[in-house]
Amino acid sequence: MRILLRSLPAFCLAASVAGSGLVATVESRSANRVQSKKSSSSKRASGGRASVSSKSNDDPALRSRAERLHRQSVVVDTHNDITSPLIDDGFDLAMRGDDPKAKVKTHTDLRRMKAGGLGAEFFAVYVGKEFVNKKPSEGGGAARRALDVIDVVHEQIRRHPESLEAASTAADIRRIVRGGKIAALMGIEGGHAIEDSLRTLRMFYKLGVRYMTLTHTNTNDWADSEGDINNPNVVHHNGLTDFGKDVVREMNRIGMMVDISHVADKTFYDVIATTRAPVIASHSSARAIANHPRNMSDEMLRAVAKNGGVVMVNFYDGFLDPRKAELALRSRAMEDELKQKYPNDPKRVQEEIDAWRKANDPGKTPLSVLMNHIDHIGKIAGIDHVGIGSDFDGVPLTGLPEGMEDISKLPTITFELMKRGYSDGDIKKVLGENLLRVMSQVERVASEMQSGKAAQRR
Ligand SMILES: [Zn+2]
Repeated sequence: MRILLRSLPAFCLAASVAGSGLVATVESRSANRVQSKKSSSSKRASGGRASVSSKSNDDPALRSRAERLHRQSVVVDTHNDITSPLIDDGFDLAMRGDDPKAKVKTHTDLRRMKAGGLGAEFFAVYVGKEFVNKKPSEGGGAARRALDVIDVVHEQIRRHPESLEAASTAADIRRIVRGGKIAALMGIEGGHAIEDSLRTLRMFYKLGVRYMTLTHTNTNDWADSEGDINNPNVVHHNGLTDFGKDVVREMNRIGMMVDISHVADKTFYDVIATTRAPVIASHSSARAIANHPRNMSDEMLRAVAKNGGVVMVNFYDGFLDPRKAELALRSRAMEDELKQKYPNDPKRVQEEIDAWRKANDPGKTPLSVLMNHIDHIGKIAGIDHVGIGSDFDGVPLTGLPEGMEDISKLPTITFELMKRGYSDGDIKKVLGENLLRVMSQVERVASEMQSGKAAQRR
């Protein structure tokens, strides 16, 4: 069962692909607005893409220039679900998750994080919706589960001080990266983790949590999720409730980034209307390329740009590849039907979906599709508003584009952006500077709100 879980660890796709039924655990303002808009045209000015076709796929000189630039950059990944194998399967980041003989196979471990030139990782504190109703003897409820995952991250930092250091601020990230270590941060995935308590939210901040994804695939008591928005059996709120708006404002006040990945479209717009700080989408891609509701429409991308925020592209092929996004949606509908047909046999449901997916598999997704999402978001929102939120270990082991099989492959993004003619400065923005800008801005808004300046201004 464990192996099966690990072979299909769809933390972030529950309800969007096959994984959800089975796996309990299965399945990321304004002051600089003007500046952001201005510099969003800098890509063309500083390079353009005329040279795309003239660069061969295998240009060793360009590859080594890309490698150098990558190592000089602060590379930030905003969503990594390695925490689930850490807490559920006894994995440790010092293990080799790519060893063919390994019991637990992963996209992420320390050796490959270093090979990938990673500067900062936001470990996902993923709380499956089932934890809401679990008893303490089963590892529940939701806040308890979040605490357990937070402890697992702290424990990894304690065990590997030569590689990892806890970061609380954007300045911490820069300092830690300069010192040659990887900055470790956390984002809660699933707002039900705060159990409707702003006090609990504040305590999570004190434990090091620096963003919260307002929903997972489940609508909670105060925010609608994209994952069940069409399910008539779920009570919806038409976006954010009044308390949901309080949550957003309190996150602004304490300095926790608001993450709109996974939320329903109306929730997204309610957040944009409520927040005083820039938002992030910790792991979302572009709907114009792959029409899946987990992805962001062009209108949403423009709204994030106006807000000063950043959209971190998800690497999961089910969200990147239009052929697979369609399959993912069809398998979501199919799963609902199968669950009704076999209400007491989740294994059967899973087997039927797996067989159907295998029979309909369109083959590997080329890396160019991932790059096209970065291009598109850069074009619509501006190069100041795109980054990377891999979702490694939150998606099936083989659910990634060719050439991006695990976290060690991150330098390829830099190489591919160079091949597409992006300037060094713009590449650094995508790799991490955009996220660092947003994080600093969130810290500034919090400090203003806490000192009362924001209130005075209003
Ligand atoms: Zn997710």
